[in-house]
Amino acid sequence: MSSEKLMATGRDHLAIPGPSVLPDRVLRAMHRASPNIYEGELIDTTQGVLNDLKRLAGCQGDVAMYIGNGHAVWEAALCNTLSRGDCILALVNGRFGRNWVKLAEQLGIEVQVLDFGDESPADPEQIESALRADSQHKIKALITAQTDTSTSVCNDLVGIRHAINAANHPALFMVDCIASFCCEPFDMQALQADVMVAASQKGLMSPPGVGLVFLSERAWSAHQYADLNTPYWNWGPRARPDEYWQHFFGTAPTHHLYALREAIDMLQEEGLKNVWSRHRMLAGMVWQAVNIWGADGTVRCHVANQAHRSAAVTTLRVTPGTAKALRGWVEQKMGVTLGIGLPFFENAPSLDDTFRIGHMGHLNAPMLLGTLASIDAGLKALDIPHGSGALDSVTRYLALDAIATLDTMTV
Ligand SMILES: *Cc1c(COP(=O)(O)O)cnc(C)c1O
Repeated sequence: MSSEKLMATGRDHLAIPGPSVLPDRVLRAMHRASPNIYEGELIDTTQGVLNDLKRLAGCQGDVAMYIGNGHAVWEAALCNTLSRGDCILALVNGRFGRNWVKLAEQLGIEVQVLDFGDESPADPEQIESALRADSQHKIKALITAQTDTSTSVCNDLVGIRHAINAANHPALFMVDCIASFCCEPFDMQALQADVMVAASQKGLMSPPGVGLVFLSERAWSAHQYADLNTPYWNWGPRARPDEYWQHFFGTAPTHHLYALREAIDMLQEEGLKNVWSRHRMLAGMVWQAVNIWGADGTVRCHVANQAHRSAAVTTLRVTPGTAKALRGWVEQKMGVTLGIGLPFFENAPSLDDTFRIGHMGHLNAPMLLGTLASIDAGLKALDIPHGSGALDSVTRYLALDAIATLDTMTV
């Protein structure tokens, strides 16, 4: 082995915003023989997984499961509720929001876009006026991401709900929680959200390959008239099957179900509110490091306002032309893979002044300290200008702020 990789020997660490780190417990749960898919334990396991997922989402309605990724459930959400030519309102603050819009347009849906740029969350006032202007109620649904994973902007879903209510508009409220589910606070019932989409490979700590659509009673009403619906994507039999195979319209994703069962057990043992707090504090560690690195303005969080940042992923800006080299150094020398900077706009050149740190799922303080320390070493090795003392500041934050606060909380 070349000495080049000496310090990377050991467990590789993936610090990208999905797929996230697979816990050993989840890996072990999948390490078993193929089960009978017609009767027996798997049927009960599936029911338990679906019930617990609904609990985690605060969903009092139903959930449909797809063998697919996030893009699959983007399409499922729209096809099951809308018809060709229907109009929707889309809130956009990054590439994921834009790509959901593109998919909708390709389905023949007319999309009115409220674009909030790439650093700001959706503005409830603009949403309210757009909905008020639609006095005929042509807009059938409002779509938004909770967190856009390209920019790491986090939207205020409560504010958006209030805007819909203030306009007294009947549009379905559809939320993409693919990055944020089980990382950031979300309660479908409290938000009166009608459709929420999520996937297995981020906060759910499982391999990519299962997409989830949570739906309300109102979403079922829209489903009756949706002419974009097709047999495979139809959530009807998936959410309310007469026979087990209809959950998946075919063979069950057997080992994903074992993975999800174990991951959900882990989340329930920790407690969902603690999971949210942990993510908030992990994000705080990243921001603390960036504050110090960027003392001279060369490194910064892409989203300036802390209140608008995601707890699951952070997009960083660095000196133009250095991001790729930094990611390369950290991966090769330290065994830590950082997230690429996604162009925020379609057809924009790929960015060499941004990269992303995923801090979602199975992650604790020492794992993240390793990532931050590896970046710190990379900045030094490549002579990229940065403020010094970031790690000292992060451990201070941990010891005196984050953990001290938790110790005084009565959980
Ligand atoms: C990851 C992600 C997607 C896309 O999911 P895929 O599994 O890659 O299809 C969509 N929206 C958000 C917010 C995401 O984070």
